[in-house]
Amino acid sequence: MESVELFTLEGKGRGLKATKESWAGDVIFAEPAYAAVVFDSLTHRVCHTCFKRQEKLHRCGQCKFAHYCDRTCQKDAWTVHKSECAAIKKLGNVPSENIRLAARILWRIEREGTGLSEGCIVAVDDLQNHVESLGEEQKKDLDADVETFLNYWPPESSMFGVQYISNVFGVINCNGFTVSDQRGLQAVGVAIFPNLCLVNHNCWPNCTVIFNNGKIELRALGKINKGEELSVSYVDFLNLSTERKEQLKRQYYFDCTCEHCTKGIKDDLMLAAKSDEEHKPSAEEVKEVIQFSKDTLEKIGKARSEGMYHEVMKLCRECLKKQEPVLAETNIYLLRILSIASEVMAYLQNFESAADYARQMVEGYMKIYHPNNAQLGMALMRAGVTHWHAGVIDVGHGMICKAYAILLVTHGPTHPITKDLEVIRHQTEMEMRMFHENEYVYYKMREAALQNRPMQVLPEPAKEVPVGIFNKKQ
Ligand SMILES: [Zn+2]
Ligand SMILES: [Zn+2]
Ligand SMILES: [Zn+2]
Repeated sequence: MESVELFTLEGKGRGLKATKESWAGDVIFAEPAYAAVVFDSLTHRVCHTCFKRQEKLHRCGQCKFAHYCDRTCQKDAWTVHKSECAAIKKLGNVPSENIRLAARILWRIEREGTGLSEGCIVAVDDLQNHVESLGEEQKKDLDADVETFLNYWPPESSMFGVQYISNVFGVINCNGFTVSDQRGLQAVGVAIFPNLCLVNHNCWPNCTVIFNNGKIELRALGKINKGEELSVSYVDFLNLSTERKEQLKRQYYFDCTCEHCTKGIKDDLMLAAKSDEEHKPSAEEVKEVIQFSKDTLEKIGKARSEGMYHEVMKLCRECLKKQEPVLAETNIYLLRILSIASEVMAYLQNFESAADYARQMVEGYMKIYHPNNAQLGMALMRAGVTHWHAGVIDVGHGMICKAYAILLVTHGPTHPITKDLEVIRHQTEMEMRMFHENEYVYYKMREAALQNRPMQVLPEPAKEVPVGIFNKKQ
């Protein structure tokens, strides 16, 4: 870890500083998980070692719980699975992900005789836990977790005090990182990365973090000077500063004092009304439409969770009709509806309409997000693919190229999603050339491409990786 240095700042706690200059896309450090587990709901579909989603997985013959890609992944897991395997067999059932993760952490501390592992700047049991500042309800949940844990923890393992175990649950609660599958499209588990936990939050950060091939990478979003503090964003920027601050306080127990929050930078854009020469909407009108949007978003959330996608679309259309004459193209309430509408329309294979919504959405996003924001890159990729499906090849190719440039920085060239995008980019480039040279050949080629279905990067709506990087109860 020569590239970073730990420092302590009065009132702000610990942080990491760069010890040398970096440029956009540089990997400042890569770190394997200290401990990691697959989500309860996916234990049969995701490899417990490498977190890849696979059709066919091998099952551990002993506990019948752990699943692996192959013998290699199984062998690699044995050191960390051995104690778990015996404990599960003995208990006769499988405890939830939080309990499993706490046990994996404590078994590792037992094995190594310390919480400080090689390559880590701080010990895992020295990470922030905020157990002291928990509310009544949270304290109750924590006590229940400790009790379940003690049932699971075998007597032949080392004994840890209740306070110590509580602190480990606190560490998981504050620092549990959401691990995604190999394409980065679905959240599949939770893990602890001690060095990453030292990187403080900033709503307009200079770094981003990506999980790739079993490790996280901290990647620079732009030029970083020697001595500069490194930061990542724990939450999506596409919220008003008051909303972000509220979320950070609730989930991470701190008051954000970043420049974007203190000055409310971009809040005006996110709340902007349409500036039409002839009809300038009144403050009253804007307020009314925003309230209507909030109510609609709530209804949409409900319909979406029940899989009623046609109802979702009806609500979106109604809301857009009210929003369009009143709200500016960067208004987040408009952008939130457009995002849902494009996602659902693409899922329902109505690509022309999905492309229209997606185009409006990314145009707004580009005015709000940092130019190298991963969320923006992913949105551009989806919008580009949607345009390709809709047969709008010029616009689609332009978006794919923009997305590719961003993902090279945020995900790096070896990430599977970047590689997918590179293939797509070649395809759209070739098609575009063809379209301008010989339209007939273009349509023939397009037909063939559609039959091969090379662009399956559109998952079912509402099942994607949450935007925040840490694993938090909503
Ligand atoms: Zn595997
Ligand atoms: Zn087993
Ligand atoms: Zn902030």
